Amino acid sequence: MHRVNPFETAKKQLDQAAKIADFDPKYIERLKVPDRYVEVSIPVVMDNGEQKIFTGFRSQHNNARGPYKGGTRFFEEVNLDEIRALSFWMSFKNAVVNIPFGGGKGGIIFDPKKVSPAELERITRGYVQKIFHLIGPEVDSPGPDVGAGSQVMDWIMDEYSKLSGKKQFAASTGKSLDQGGSEGREEATGYGGGVILREVLSKNLIQPIKKTIAIQGFGNVGTFLAKSVHELGWRIVALSDSKGGVFNDQGIDLEQAAQHKKATGSLKDLAGTRNITNEELLELDVDILVPAALENVLTAENANRIKAQMIFEMANGPTTPEADEIFNQKKKIIIPDILANSGGVATSYYEWYQNMHQEKWPVDEVLSKLHTLMVQAFNDVFAVQQKYQTSFRNAAYILGAERIINTIKNKGV
Ligand code: GLU
Repeated sequence: MHRVNPFETAKKQLDQAAKIADFDPKYIERLKVPDRYVEVSIPVVMDNGEQKIFTGFRSQHNNARGPYKGGTRFFEEVNLDEIRALSFWMSFKNAVVNIPFGGGKGGIIFDPKKVSPAELERITRGYVQKIFHLIGPEVDSPGPDVGAGSQVMDWIMDEYSKLSGKKQFAASTGKSLDQGGSEGREEATGYGGGVILREVLSKNLIQPIKKTIAIQGFGNVGTFLAKSVHELGWRIVALSDSKGGVFNDQGIDLEQAAQHKKATGSLKDLAGTRNITNEELLELDVDILVPAALENVLTAENANRIKAQMIFEMANGPTTPEADEIFNQKKKIIIPDILANSGGVATSYYEWYQNMHQEKWPVDEVLSKLHTLMVQAFNDVFAVQQKYQTSFRNAAYILGAERIINTIKNKGV
């Protein structure tokens, strides 16, 4: 299969939006290059006594609006272009949801499931030692992403604190609750997606036939989004993980699916469902398709076979520019990643804020603030979409670019 470079995708998306709104090209050019990025080697002594050298990255795209901020991806196939793209998307996402952060992203090439917990800790701490001089609460605060959850975030914060000689809870976000993590952070991305979905549906942009949804990905994001979908009275007829998917026209019981995955390690053979592949899931005849796993799953190759009326992007970068064009021609509604999945980093901002001010907010307070913020983000994007009569992706980019560019202009080049 032709591999699409996500960083090229990101730049094309910005160009598309820039064609519609009247931006000074010099700012657009500037936003197409990250401020800086590093590749580091991390030598680690493995449990068997042998040394292995891991490769890590951190890309800092833009900090006009605040410290660089974004996740950390531990994944066998991660590469610098993917990290640069993800840092680029973070700048726009943080601007769209209007939190005072720029965009950053990091990662290490390895499969965290294939190392022991002690090795995982040494790899993480080794990574922090290598990027220590580039990060920090007011410089760049890493958060969670694919393969790196709260335990990894606790180690990042701890290693950073040790190296700097003082406790600095805000050195990472997405931490566990007793290490300065925030209530609500775990469910935040899925919960925020649910808020956006409700707002989108209230505009009657699609005519749902059976109110059915297929979700690709049953990790943190997919799981919590699925709960919100359920509360909206919609039916999840298909779910998948990296090993494959399951389908039931009458709807899938989420509790049962979660228990089955916990017990067997995958969704495969879930009682009352039929096994399907990830490719089949994408092409199901559902009202809404939710890619909630990785980039480049909707491509020129399969776009013509996608039947859903709406694509709701909970993954970062799931749609290639070619697929995007096909969907737009077919008048499908695409709710872009930089709006749909921004609830995670928005709650990282709340965590960061609580850490910086030695506060602890109850879960209701966090989720109610998040709710207000997400509704505002949707309304802001919707207003731009209406003004330019364009796609939601272009509208979100225009809004994000406008906010970033205004900040650059105001402080002077
Ligand atoms: N990985 C999350 C995202 O793609 C953000 C991580 C963070 O909270 O910094 O939006």
